[in-house]
Parts: sequence; C-alpha cells; structure tokens
Amino acid sequence: MDGVTTVGVADVRVANGLIEAVGDLGPLPGEEVRDLNGLYLAPGFIDTHTHADCIAFLGPESEALTVANLRQGVTTQVCGNCGFSPFPVLSVEREITSHLLPALGPGTRIFRSLQEWRGAATEATLPTNLAPLVGHGTLRANVMGFEDRHATEAELRQMEELLSACLEDGALGFSSGLIYAPGTFATTDELTRLARVAGRYGALYATHVRNESDHVLGALQEAIAIGSQSGCPVHVSHHKTAGRANWGRTQETLARLERARADGVDITIDVYPYTAGSTALQAILPPWVQRDGAEAMLERLKDGAVRQRIRRDWVETTPTWQNLVHAAGWEGIVVASASDHPEIEGKSLAELQAETHRDPVDLVCELLISQRANVTIILHMMAESDVQNALRWSYAMIGSDGILQPGRPHPRIAGTFARVLATYVKTRQLLSLTEAVRRMTSLPAWRFGLSTRGRIAPGASADLVVFDLSALSDRSAYEEPLTPPEGIVHVMVNGVLALEDGALTGRRAGEVLGRVDRHGV
Ligand SMILES: [Zn+2]
Repeated sequence: MDGVTTVGVADVRVANGLIEAVGDLGPLPGEEVRDLNGLYLAPGFIDTHTHADCIAFLGPESEALTVANLRQGVTTQVCGNCGFSPFPVLSVEREITSHLLPALGPGTRIFRSLQEWRGAATEATLPTNLAPLVGHGTLRANVMGFEDRHATEAELRQMEELLSACLEDGALGFSSGLIYAPGTFATTDELTRLARVAGRYGALYATHVRNESDHVLGALQEAIAIGSQSGCPVHVSHHKTAGRANWGRTQETLARLERARADGVDITIDVYPYTAGSTALQAILPPWVQRDGAEAMLERLKDGAVRQRIRRDWVETTPTWQNLVHAAGWEGIVVASASDHPEIEGKSLAELQAETHRDPVDLVCELLISQRANVTIILHMMAESDVQNALRWSYAMIGSDGILQPGRPHPRIAGTFARVLATYVKTRQLLSLTEAVRRMTSLPAWRFGLSTRGRIAPGASADLVVFDLSALSDRSAYEEPLTPPEGIVHVMVNGVLALEDGALTGRRAGEVLGRVDRHGV
C-alpha cells in the first residue's frame, strides 16, 4: 500500500521514543500534557532527497545549515542521493573526497563501510534521522576510478559485491547521478546489474537521470527499462523538464511514467517546489572534461584547445550529456557557494562576464581552478506549471535536494516543506492538506521501506511535527536562503523535542535508519 493520510482529533501519548497510544486518552498522573488546540500534529516529514550524509560533521559555524531541514519539520532525511555517498571508500580516497566535496559540503569525510559511517555520524550526533542510499558513483570510483569506459565483467562483480555489503548493513537502496562523472560513464546494463542486486534485497534504485531537458524522455525510458528488467522499484529524483524549449513537457513525462506504472514498473518521483535547481559548477562541463578525477580535470582546464572544444560543445545538445548552459543560459546560472570568492556569491555568470570582460569558458575554467573544483551554482531553468504538474502526480514525494554549502545556497534547503504547505496548499490550493502531508510522510515511508515512520499510530516511532497552518510561511529566499519558516511550532525526533515553541532545544536525537521489510507496511 502506498500511504493513506486522514485528519481527525485525538490525543497522542508518547513514551520511550514511540507513539504509545492514540485516541481519547486523558492524562495519566504526573504526565506532561501539551494542548495543541488549533494546531496540526503530523508525522515528522520525510525528505526523500538530501545530501545530508555528512551533516553530523559540520562545525558550529555551519549551525544554520545543520538545522535548516529540522526547522521545517523534517525528522528523516534520505541521503546518499545522485550517486554520492561517503561509503564504501576502499581506494582512490583523495579523488573520491574531492569528488564528494561540492555535493556533501565542508563536513565531507569518507568511510570504509556503512557501519563505520553510521558509528561516526551517531557519535557526532544527528539533528534528524538519516536513511542512507549507496552512491553508484562511489561504488564505480572504488573499482575503476573516474575512467571514461565500460566496466568489465570482473569490475561489475566487484561493484555488485560492494553494493551487497552495504545492503547487508541496512542501506535502503542505491542511487545514480548520470550527469556526473563517473556515473555518466556507466551503461544501462551496468545499472541494471546493480538494480538486480538491490531488488533481491527489497531495496530500491533512485536516479538522477541522464538528461532532464531536451532528451528527458529518453532518460526516463532508461530508468523505466532498468526497473522493468531488474524488477527493482525505481525512484526518479527531482523530476523536471528544464530549459525553455521543454517547458510544458511534464505532460508527456508524467504520462510516460503513468504508462510505465500501468505496465507493472514500480516507479515514483520526488520534486522540490522551485523553478531553479542547484548543483556543482563542473556539471556544466561536458563529461569528457571530467574524466580521470578532479585533479586531471583541473589540469586539463588550463589547456586552450580544451577550452575551445568546451566552447563548441556548449552550443549543441545531444542525448549523451545534459547541456546545462543551453538549458539555463548564462543569466540563469548564479554562483551559490565559492568559499574563496564570497564576493561573487549571488551573482550570475552573465553578470560576472560583463564585470570582468572575460569569455565564459575562461571565467568558468579559472573559477574551477582557483576553487579546486569546489563551487556550487543555482540554475534558473524550469517553468512553474511543470513544478505544479509534478507536485500533483499521485506518486510524487517532496525532496529538498539541499546542498549543505555555505554562501548563498538554494533556498530549498530551509523552505521546501513549508513552501509546499504555504504556497501549494494554502494559497494556490493545488493540493489538499492531507494530500500534501501524505507526500511528506506515509508515501515516502512506504517507498523507502521505513515501516515505523510516517504515521501516527501505536508502535510507530515518535517523529512528530506540530504546525500552525494559518501562520505557516516559508521565508527563505534567494537573497536570504537560510531564513527558517514561520508556523512550525514543535518538532520531535525519536520522542525528543528538538524544536519547542519555535525555538531549537539543542537536543539531537537523530538515528541512522536501516531498511526493514518494505512489504510489511
Ligand atoms: Zn541530483
């Protein structure tokens, strides 16, 4: 079953990290009672798409990033998305670390196994629960570095073994990022082989597909084929149709996904409620530039002939790579985080070109070289109507895709969940309150096999959020991305109040969650 949400009036008793009873209860002697009259109590929100793998290792200077999702009512973050996970790392440690850095932020650390990561994250304390996926990019980099070629049979077996070990340790599934090196060098067959392994464990395959603009249908077709050939459930990350030429095409893409479901492929999506995306700057480069790792790429970027070829590639769009420059345009690409150059954060590449009188390719290459490839960007490239179409689909969940980088990160990091409720439930009435809450709670709990989360019922984990719908508003904006929302009153993680009357309590009770029997929900 795929999650049902109903609304009603009841008392909820919490004890020992669990919901003990629901109904007309009345207080027990000595019991602490909180009157939530006029407020809504919902299961804690489950953010299906984050890069919070190393959130426990952010320093006190990054406190606003650490608690941004918690302050929206999120109690569980699915991490390890887009092919990036900090485990298992058993070789090419330096290359993998620089590869992970833009996605996982200044807390980035690598681990030999999921167990080792779980131990370190739990010891450092977690603001919310983390539900880990294994990154295909990390698996592939372990076995064959960042080489631009197909895997041999022996290499495929090694990747399968590494994945099995992580699934044995409780990973919920694996993820791919097919616009990034090294994921982009993988064939459909390679991904299908791994999806078969995940399917055997009752785990899932989450994918940032190969193309989200001109060739989006072909990219979705690849995800559908992997699902139908492997029998593994497929979850399409941050679904969109980017670039002006593709505005309106969610009509086609959602119809295609609907047909796949009718054909028996268990496929779902997540969405963030914004018309801009965010990623690492190097993602705007063609894949051949990114092969052999960050060091090799930075060396290559000094070469005039390489720059000339990049300039030519930016003019075309082919199915084999996603041309983000074509989709967003220079005015649509804004620097989010460049820690050595804070003065350019918040400026578009068009503005920077005008200010510096630099050619775009020289500007981008030199920025990457001076920042050691650690730069993130925001890309304005979607239509509001497509965001709404995707949000409305019955199998759509909410994933913030926040990137824990300082500077001017995307406002989705602090606003996603409040924005869905404020803008799409209250103002535009695109979704009913129960539908919106379902997409944030019981539906993702079903999808990711988190059977004790996402519902208010005796025996469920006491992950809860209390909000004032009339006061609810997301206040994070591109200029002030980390401003917390208004209207989130209390947040409880595993029975511990982390936010009380709108203020952080400083108590961190998050745990690393493991896969449980997904069919038992
Ligand atoms: Zn992604």
